[in-house]
Amino acid sequence: MELTIGHLYPDLLNLYGDRGNIQCMKKRCEWRGIGARVIQYELGDSIDFSKLDIVLLGGGSDREQMIVGDRLMEIEDEFRAYVEDDGVVIAVCGGYQLLGNYYQTPEGRIEGLGIVDLDTEQGKDFRLIDNIVLESDLFSMPIVGFENHGGRTNIKNNKPLGKVIYGSGNDSVSGYEGVVYKNVIGTYLHGPLLPKNPQIADYLIRKALERKYKQPVTLAELPDIEEKEANAYIYNRFKGKVSKPQNQEQLV
Ligand code: GLN
Repeated sequence: MELTIGHLYPDLLNLYGDRGNIQCMKKRCEWRGIGARVIQYELGDSIDFSKLDIVLLGGGSDREQMIVGDRLMEIEDEFRAYVEDDGVVIAVCGGYQLLGNYYQTPEGRIEGLGIVDLDTEQGKDFRLIDNIVLESDLFSMPIVGFENHGGRTNIKNNKPLGKVIYGSGNDSVSGYEGVVYKNVIGTYLHGPLLPKNPQIADYLIRKALERKYKQPVTLAELPDIEEKEANAYIYNRFKGKVSKPQNQEQLV
């Protein structure tokens, strides 16, 4: 078995080591004898979504999002068809916002793909910056990471990725974080996300294999000693604590 992972615009969308998510998925495939090929796309490249099994869209500053947003508009139909055909996507922060309808900033509105029905507006006073811990009904293990965003995202009737145990999440008031739509996961969690959350990496790999090979897949267990230790360390450090007052840092 083999998978092809498409990394969209890593030169522009690669905040807080989002690239590590690619390395993590590739390694977890290889450890199981599953081939994993990675294709990195630059802005001008054409993308044949029929060749891809997993797509990663990372995070970026508002400026970078604006540049990427314009390009995404040109490939909107192909990207939407891939998602509607159960293509697997992991979209982090800026990439998550771009899957939605728009991201409104004081400098203007960045149009999104509108593939998932969600809206993002930049908060007026402060960014949401902190460690973050979630509990998700998709996984028995908690989800841990780091968030740094000015945008507040309203996911409307969509399913969230998890419930916030510590941190801010989508908008700091709903108590939820991220979104799950078909085989798409959108989340504000950087860190990168997947090395500390191998349950999510395996979820994406399994969904991609099941779609490609049209059969149920059970992945071989990996020991994940360091991964579980890292996850548990963050979980235990923040569970039960009250999120610290919001950072008064400049909007980026
Ligand atoms: N620029 C977006 C925001 O501030 C996304 C940031 C990010 O990807 N970390 O909300």
